[in-house]
Amino acid sequence: MSAPRLGSIESGGTKFVCLVGSAPDRIEAEIRFPTGEPGPTLARAIDFFRKAAAETGPLDAIGIASFGPLELRPGHAKFGRLAATPKPGWSGADIAGPVAAALNVPVGIDTDVNGAALGEGRWGAARGLDTYVYLTVGTGIGGGAVIGGEVVRGLVHTEMGHLAVPRVAGDAFPGSCPFHGDCWEGLAGGEAMHARWGTPAEELTGDALREALRLEAAYLAAGLRNIVYTTAPQRIVIGGGVAELPGLFPLLSAELTSALAGYPGLAEHSAGDFVVPARLGRLAGPAGGLVLAARAAAAARRRPSGTGPSGGRDA
Ligand code: ZN
Repeated sequence: MSAPRLGSIESGGTKFVCLVGSAPDRIEAEIRFPTGEPGPTLARAIDFFRKAAAETGPLDAIGIASFGPLELRPGHAKFGRLAATPKPGWSGADIAGPVAAALNVPVGIDTDVNGAALGEGRWGAARGLDTYVYLTVGTGIGGGAVIGGEVVRGLVHTEMGHLAVPRVAGDAFPGSCPFHGDCWEGLAGGEAMHARWGTPAEELTGDALREALRLEAAYLAAGLRNIVYTTAPQRIVIGGGVAELPGLFPLLSAELTSALAGYPGLAEHSAGDFVVPARLGRLAGPAGGLVLAARAAAAARRRPSGTGPSGGRDA
């Protein structure tokens, strides 16, 4: 059987990445463009896939890894639509529906973070594991938990960035989350770091960088402790710009060991491969789209009607 021909959309707040292929290292065609109004932006994506199908043959399915918050409850009237978002024009926008209707192929959709989690599990730093957490620490913090091979979601997708974490002694920074102030993201996301230090994290050097890393590792470890105890991951994979700060991971591993305080006493929690950097980098989102597409194609093969948008959990 030949490799499936899958389409992937990474629907981001600033840019769209669309590609055709079967794996991150098997990409036949790709296009990137800035995110504008929903109608023209989705039309541009649809046009790209139409041309690709006309030139090289039909697609088996398309997967969408999108910024959120998204309605993902199967069968919900607003399935595949964005909820209220600060991105102008996109609140309530239907992302999955127009793609499925225009291209008449199965469409899978999940959040960009959950997509990246699936991508890291298939091709990246969580390959071979079935229970792990993917965390992105960029402007904000987002996390996706894969448990027994399935992304966890219920009423809504997980919102790990808004966990409550204890303050580090002496830290008076009020926090930057518009909802909670000093939640995890409000204390440790890239925007919080920028506000706290008066400069973007990636521009810090010398003593300022050392102090920022010390505090960042402590706060990340505090949140990871909650995640370790609630989801029992085999590994935690961290991507995003803040995760690329030099020297962060060894500090973070040490802080996590300290935060767990010997309970439950697993050697794995302190091992060097427990908290690791993401491996797919900027391809994590598009790779997630490919996994969602493959799952949508598999689900459609089992369903008489064949097409229509679906979540990524049923393959
Ligand atoms: Zn918050």
